[in-house]
Amino acid sequence: MSTILTALIAAAVVTTMANTCTTVYLHRGLSHRALTVHPVVAWVFRLVLWLTTGIKPKEWVAVHRKHHAFTDHEGDPHSPILTSWQHVQIKNVAMYRAALSDPELISKYAKDLPDDNWDRAFFGHNKTGLLIGIGILVVVFGPITGLLAAFIHANAYLAGNAAVNAMGHHFGRRPYDNGATNLQWLAFCTMGEGLHNNHHAAPSSPRLSHKRSQIDPGWWVIRTLSILKLASLRFDDIRLTPSAKASVS
Ligand SMILES: [Zn+2]
Ligand SMILES: [Zn+2]
Repeated sequence: MSTILTALIAAAVVTTMANTCTTVYLHRGLSHRALTVHPVVAWVFRLVLWLTTGIKPKEWVAVHRKHHAFTDHEGDPHSPILTSWQHVQIKNVAMYRAALSDPELISKYAKDLPDDNWDRAFFGHNKTGLLIGIGILVVVFGPITGLLAAFIHANAYLAGNAAVNAMGHHFGRRPYDNGATNLQWLAFCTMGEGLHNNHHAAPSSPRLSHKRSQIDPGWWVIRTLSILKLASLRFDDIRLTPSAKASVS
C-alpha cells in the first residue's frame, strides 16, 4: 500500500477515535451531563483524548459551557454571528485560547471537574500526550507515514471542530428557533456534532438526531455503551429546553 493511502487510513481511524471521545465524553457527557460513563470507559476516553487532541477536558468543557451561556451574543467565545463564519473557521483555536486566558473561566464554568491524580501525573500534561501519540504512529507506521498521518489527523480534527462552531451557526437547516444549524454532512465527519441546531434545542439529551432521516453516529456508540451497562443516560428520549420552539421558516 502506498505511503499516502496508509497515512490517510491511519489518520481516518485516529480522527474518528478523537471525534468519538470529543462528542460522547467531552461534549455530551462532561459538558452537559447527558450521560455518565463507567469509570473504566471514562479513563479510556481520557487516554485517547490525551494522545490524540492535547485537550484538557475541564478547559474544553468551560469554553463550551460559556458558548451555551452566551450563544451568539457578546461573551460567546466563538460566534460567527459576532464575527463571520470564515473568521471562526480559521481562528477557532486562537478563540479557544483567548477564552482560556480568562483566569476565572474554569472556576465559573467547570468547577465540578477538579484535577485528579491521573490529571496531575499524565492527562494534565497535554503536550506530552500529543508527543506520545505521534510517537506511537511513528513506531507503528515508520517516520514518514506516521508523521504524515499525524499531520492529516491534526488538520482534519481541528477543521471539523472549527466547522461545528463556524458553519454550524451559519449554514444549514434550523428546525428549531435558535442560531445553530443542522448539517448532516458535518455530522458524518464529526460523529454527530453537525446536528448542532438540534443540540442547542436539547443540550441535555444524549441523542442529537431528532428525526429518522437524521444520522448521529455518536448516538450509536452511546446506545452500545448503554446496552453493555457501561453508560447511563440522563434522558431516554429527546428533552427540549423550555425555551426551545420549532422554527416558523
Ligand atoms: Zn453552538
Ligand atoms: Zn453543547
